[in-house]
Formats: sequence, C-alpha cells, structure tokens
Amino acid sequence: MSKSTPPSFEMVVLTTCDTHDEAALIRYGLKLRQIPSDLSVPRASLLPTRTPRPIEVRVPRESLERAQGAIQYIAGAVHGDGVAITPDFRCAICGYDMTGLGSQTICPECGTDLASESAKKMARRRLPPDA
Ligand SMILES: [Zn+2]
Repeated sequence: MSKSTPPSFEMVVLTTCDTHDEAALIRYGLKLRQIPSDLSVPRASLLPTRTPRPIEVRVPRESLERAQGAIQYIAGAVHGDGVAITPDFRCAICGYDMTGLGSQTICPECGTDLASESAKKMARRRLPPDA
C-alpha cells in the first residue's frame, strides 16, 4: 500500500442536476471521455425531504473546458430532447464518433440530422441501462 497523496487538481462545478439518475448518466459520459468527476450533494438534513436537491457534478479544473464541450451531448441524451448522440458521443444511427464536432447535429458519416425526432427516438432506445 502506497501512501495516498491528495489530488493535485482542484475540483470545480461543471453542472447541477436534480436527480441522481441524471448525475450518474452525466458522469458516465464524462468517464467515457476519461474525464474524472465527483459529486457534491448538500447535506440532506438541512433540506425539506421532498425538495429536489441540486446535485453538483464536479470535474478537475484542468478538464473543465473539455467537459463543458461534452456536457451538451450528455445533457441531450439525459433529457431526450437534445440530439441523438449517445453518452459516448457517437451518432446514434451509425456509431460515428462525434467527439469534437461541437454543436453540429448532422452526422458527417450517415448524414442523419441527429436533432430529428426519429433520430432521438433511436438514441433513447440505445441509452445504457441504469447502472
Ligand atoms: Zn451517423
């Protein structure tokens, strides 16, 4: 066992979620991009039971820019109303790697508009099962 050293990076808030399911899917997407993340949850005892609690998803400051580029795809998959890009940033129709294409919604490989309803339907079917 080696002596553990404190992480050298500072964690900063990437986004906040209302549910653990949403936070888990966002973290899954980040993990697939090799971006480490953690959660910061306010102490439950301080909040009314039925109030949705903002769950903070945090990433290292050095990864923040990359994570912010990724989050729009992940959030789209979470809410089902963004674009049909899988949590691992591939075209939901043909699997083309959409990493780094910014907010583009037309897949350069198969030409599908990933913002279309039919494409989004397919993306939802391909979401990973609950972890
Ligand atoms: Zn495609």
